[in-house]
Amino acid sequence: MENQSQPIKLQGSIEISYEWSAGVAGSRFFQEIRDNKRIMGTKCPKCGRVLVPPRIFCEECFVDVEEWVEVSSKGELVTFGESYLGTDGSKLKEPWIVGIIRLDGADGGLIHYIGEARPEELKIGMRMEAVFNEKRNGNILDIKHFRPSK
Ligand SMILES: [Zn+2]
Repeated sequence: MENQSQPIKLQGSIEISYEWSAGVAGSRFFQEIRDNKRIMGTKCPKCGRVLVPPRIFCEECFVDVEEWVEVSSKGELVTFGESYLGTDGSKLKEPWIVGIIRLDGADGGLIHYIGEARPEELKIGMRMEAVFNEKRNGNILDIKHFRPSK
């Protein structure tokens, strides 16, 4: 019998700090949420789509997009998923839920956490609303999560 070696797995961890620019559109998007609890999109002058998250270029029409519009913090649940695994692979008793919410007045949708609801209470197409954190720092987690509209 040959001496077959087994693969050896080595484990380690690396802490990485980084900084990146949110860009023109992302910066205004996050500032409006942080300072005014307003969710903004950009409107394409050619196809009329309202892009949320905002972009300064319409990838369908190949034109610059400069018009800013406020969209609602309420919308419709497009889809969702739940996980009973933490980011470290550990098993969780309560799932975390992520969904796509199409905000009123916007095309496309925002991917975000769903809170204040159990998975069995959620239905595709149901009305949802953003819950803003009291302390906001200028990132997407200034929206704590979306919850079913009351
Ligand atoms: Zn367009």
